[in-house]
Amino acid sequence: MKAILIRQTGGPEQMKLEETPTPAPASGQVLVKIASAGVNFIDVYFRTGLYKADLPFTPGMEAAGIVEAAGEGVTGFSKGDRVAYAMTRGSYAEYAVVPAASLVAVPEGLDLAAAASVMLQGMTAHYLTHSTFPLQKGQTALVHAAAGGAGALIVQIAKMLGARVIGTAGSAAKAERARAMGADECIVYTEQDFEAETRRLTDSKGVDVVYDSVGASTFLKSVNCLRPRGMMVTFGNASGPVPAIEPLLLGQKGSLFLTRPSLAQYCLTREELLWRAGDVLRWVASGSLKQHVFKTYPLADAGQAHRDLEGRGTQGKLLLSA
Ligand code: NDP
Repeated sequence: MKAILIRQTGGPEQMKLEETPTPAPASGQVLVKIASAGVNFIDVYFRTGLYKADLPFTPGMEAAGIVEAAGEGVTGFSKGDRVAYAMTRGSYAEYAVVPAASLVAVPEGLDLAAAASVMLQGMTAHYLTHSTFPLQKGQTALVHAAAGGAGALIVQIAKMLGARVIGTAGSAAKAERARAMGADECIVYTEQDFEAETRRLTDSKGVDVVYDSVGASTFLKSVNCLRPRGMMVTFGNASGPVPAIEPLLLGQKGSLFLTRPSLAQYCLTREELLWRAGDVLRWVASGSLKQHVFKTYPLADAGQAHRDLEGRGTQGKLLLSA
């Protein structure tokens, strides 16, 4: 089969399309013929070496496709089933072996690309808004990179829950998309001071929660946007990892809560996975949750997809077609 291999961490040029043996599913695993693989920022972290993986490896943490073969002991999935998954590495390939416990069925009528486009970012938006800081009607959330893959989904789900959403985005065009996704306001944080704007928009009260995936460049100002006892959710490093802070800072800024969550710990059981994926896929199938597909690249152009994602020029989702 063809697969992207990373033999050395570094820039996008380290991702090369190679011919490798098609893997066989071991006990409890399923071999999936990939139709569509999602591109996520976490793939960049593995490629650069910020997140560690044994070399060589095939990147990609999300896909949808058709079951080709089921390993010993697998029940519930068989050849021909339409499935989707997130958080098993190796989806930048024509085939991938995936634990059966991580697979979900794609609802009838939902195409595989649409399913692949929301598994990782959609379940992330779900856990952030339903579990990390369960948003309630009338609360206000600040969502950074609100036109991005994860950001636009957080905006929409926060609105479903009745929250007020202040977004940030890197350009006027992105801010427009964030508003079209339901953001009540969107600050162009490359031109305006988002801390001052957020204070103004909340009559100096501050927001209940900040969902911050940008990391290094926004963290400290985000903390200043919170109300007393608000929650700082730092869940990504698009601009670089957040530097160390003293716990005292959280006291000085208003008895704040700080968490650094990951999707894996919010899908600890099969029930939790089925809850989140079930909600997200059902909302997408019904049209109540929208994921804009920015571009679909051939597998061989995975490097270009990373350049585009890191270059801040994208809105919504990037996909690879196998
Ligand atoms: P996005 O589509 O959101 O792309 C990243 C966006 O970040 C850019 O478009 C850009 O938007 C913004 N950004 C701000 N500063 C920079 C910078 N210096 N370099 C690059 N981008 C920058 O990507 P994803 O939806 O895939 O991921 C968004 C974030 O969410 C990532 O940090 C990712 O790691 C995190 N994440 C975390 C998960 C978890 O469970 N912890 C799970 C899923 C995603 P703009 O121009 O508008 O600022």
